[in-house]
Amino acid sequence: MKPSLDKLYKFFKLEAERSYDNHAVMGGLERMLDRWEAEARAEALPEEIVQAVVTRIRDYSHLTPKSRAEALDGLWRRLQRSFSDLPVLAFDFQEPPPQSPTEDLPEQPGPETSTRKEVLHRRKPTSPAPVEMRSPGEPAALYAPVSVLDGIGPRHAQTLERLGIRTLRDMLYHFPRRYDDYTRMKPINRLEYGEEVTVIGTVQNVSTRSLKGGQLKLTEAIISDGSGALRVTWFNPWIAKSLQSGDQIVLSGKTDQYLGRLVMSNPEWEPLEQQQLSTNRIVPVYPLTAKITQRWLRQQMHQVVSYWAGRVQDPLPQALRQSAELVPLYTALLQIHFPDSWDDLERAIHRLAFDEIFLLQLGALRQKRAWQARTAHPYPVEDDWLQAQLDRLPFSLTNAQLNTLRDVRQDLASGFPMNRLIQGDVGSGKTAVAALAIAIVTSHAAQAAFMAPTSILAEQHYINLQKLLAGQDASSETGSQAASPALDPAQIRLLIGATPEAEKREILAGLSDGSIKVIIGTHALLEDPVSFANLQLAVVDEQHRFGVEQRATLRSKGDNPHLMVMTATPIPRSLALTVYGDLDLSVIDEMPPGRLPVSTHVLMPRERERSYVLIRNQVELGRQAFIIYPLIEESENSETLAAVEEQQRLQSEIFPRLKVGLLHGRMPPEEKDQVMTDFRDGAYHILVSTTVVEVGVDVSNATVMLIEGANRFGLAQLHQLRGRVGRGADKAYCLLIPDSPDQAENDRLRAMTETNDGFILAERDLEQRGPGQFLGTRQSGYADLQLANITDVHLIEKARQHAQALFEQDPELSQPEYALLAETLKRSWRGGKGDIS
Ligand code: ADP
Ligand code: MG
Repeated sequence: MKPSLDKLYKFFKLEAERSYDNHAVMGGLERMLDRWEAEARAEALPEEIVQAVVTRIRDYSHLTPKSRAEALDGLWRRLQRSFSDLPVLAFDFQEPPPQSPTEDLPEQPGPETSTRKEVLHRRKPTSPAPVEMRSPGEPAALYAPVSVLDGIGPRHAQTLERLGIRTLRDMLYHFPRRYDDYTRMKPINRLEYGEEVTVIGTVQNVSTRSLKGGQLKLTEAIISDGSGALRVTWFNPWIAKSLQSGDQIVLSGKTDQYLGRLVMSNPEWEPLEQQQLSTNRIVPVYPLTAKITQRWLRQQMHQVVSYWAGRVQDPLPQALRQSAELVPLYTALLQIHFPDSWDDLERAIHRLAFDEIFLLQLGALRQKRAWQARTAHPYPVEDDWLQAQLDRLPFSLTNAQLNTLRDVRQDLASGFPMNRLIQGDVGSGKTAVAALAIAIVTSHAAQAAFMAPTSILAEQHYINLQKLLAGQDASSETGSQAASPALDPAQIRLLIGATPEAEKREILAGLSDGSIKVIIGTHALLEDPVSFANLQLAVVDEQHRFGVEQRATLRSKGDNPHLMVMTATPIPRSLALTVYGDLDLSVIDEMPPGRLPVSTHVLMPRERERSYVLIRNQVELGRQAFIIYPLIEESENSETLAAVEEQQRLQSEIFPRLKVGLLHGRMPPEEKDQVMTDFRDGAYHILVSTTVVEVGVDVSNATVMLIEGANRFGLAQLHQLRGRVGRGADKAYCLLIPDSPDQAENDRLRAMTETNDGFILAERDLEQRGPGQFLGTRQSGYADLQLANITDVHLIEKARQHAQALFEQDPELSQPEYALLAETLKRSWRGGKGDIS
């Protein structure tokens, strides 16, 4: 071991033994720096190492003991990576005894005292009462509003609120969106063009200049470090006020070229004597909003993180952390904001992402258990009876449909309430399976409800279910079983907003006296006056269109009814098991035979005319077309073609002899339904629409889906839109026109031309955009996953396994070491304690 490193080893070890009181060196660790630096250089230690030590130790005295432990730990690990002969050093830190809540920061303003902060605090009437959310193991002050911080007044507090930050704890959980790597430090004479680098030097000269007739002010400085001089410019006149000749500063940024010389434009900079947050390290880059800067936010963050990260109690007990190989929560919080190395950052993200999945999974397991504790009416059916029902259908089920039906049949017979998600791509035939579930339940004289998000969809289901459940028995040579009574058409009804009052009253009566067996409808089913004699099965179609509460409302209209939710959003199994961990899952991963894939092409904007020709030809063959636009009205962005204006243009200039309809989201729901119905009934040849058309409406006569501004849509959305065509027997086309030619190379558009398989597209979408976009927040029953990368199957599996193990051992989380975990879980499950579905 080099003597300089041995010295560090001794000092650090001593510090750890002294619980980081900064007395390992007389006068504080900083005191050793000058001599150590000289020694290290003499031993030819790499410059990055010297700088890493110097920058970490320089502000050591300002840190809390816990942060000191962190700093030494990070530093030592970095050294160990460079020098394999270094011994292991453990920088444990004893958690401080529990804080009295008011010790550090006022939880609420005291009535008498009136320090500046408290006055500010009191002036903010909208600030949430921090006490409510407090969890037992954490100091209440963590839930104090950010305005208790020095340097955050009411105005900044308001700005931060726009980022979702109200409390100190929110700040801890406001994670960087990316990081700049400024860990490479170089002398000026060794800089190369285009590298991201850190330079330390002395300011030689500062001046400001006006450019472009005074519109732009430029600050220019010359920095030298003994090896050379570097010209640096900022488009910011204020910097000139804070820089002076002779100042020692640290600069981080990308080197550029100007008039043949290396320069730096708009680098980050900090005084050398200050702790470096924006330079000379892996620098966090936060999501921002107007009126605050990265630099400012970093400073506030550092204030909060270095003091508070160590005061957040870790909800995961040590034993669990160890077996899951996770860093402690305080380490994770420190390192995700101000990482010492990429490895430390990775470990931090891993830990925090683990928490997200782990909590999600644990919540789902508990929810599932709560459901399983209930009983439901069993609805067994005979094989012969079921076969007779299958024979009655106009088609034979695919294997995937049959498998799903088998799951459903088992659930219904089990005596426990079914909670099943049926997942299947658009057109995979989910409705037929639902129809059979309804047939099973109603054959036992119980009632079923089928809820869809729009009137037109409800109507479509109504027509289909009439056919499937009350239609004439097609087969003639059936035996006695087939004589089992199909439903009478009058026992199947439709309830939507537009249902006339008199009919509505009649339906309500029929539902509550039990004479109506099957009701199909929209949100109208959720209304108060709707009550059932014996609701035993609730089916929810396109379930992501409904909130968690709406599903719960429908369920509450029966006594523990069986629940079947259907979605056409195909998500990978690992994700489904986690996000819908409280539901059982059946996947219909096969299309009915004879479906032609939709022929998909990306066209250049200038080739638009070709798509019009195709539409004209298809219309001549008696088919119909959709044309989709991304926005309703012309926005500032002139390239965005707007549905409203385009409909007029298309009608008058392009298709004067055809009927062009218009559908958009700002229309009242009845009007939307009317337009859709008219289109289905053939009143328009072409329907110009925004994405409101994406929900599963069947217009089997439509064969063209033209999507303008296609680069603006997500993959899942494009796939849903494409699913609107190709539902009949005719060959169908999907044409994607991006805003500009260079967007034609767009990955998503290419993916669309490569496959018609929704699951493959879903995985691509997840890789590209993360689950938040894909799922929305409504359907998951859980706040967004911030960090967990849902394509990280390894992480998900690990978190699931640990959740499962813990759940089996202590499902109530009743042991004391799980108290905080139980509390955290309660907070993170939307809807809190009870039923979430
Ligand atoms: P989705 O899963 O998108 O809700 P639907 O249930 O609306 O799909 O079915 C799409 C179309 O496919 C319907 O017209 C339906 O009658 C038809 N269909 C469903 N199952 C089969 C099958 N096994 N064979 C042939 N056609 C089927
Ligand atoms: Mg459907």
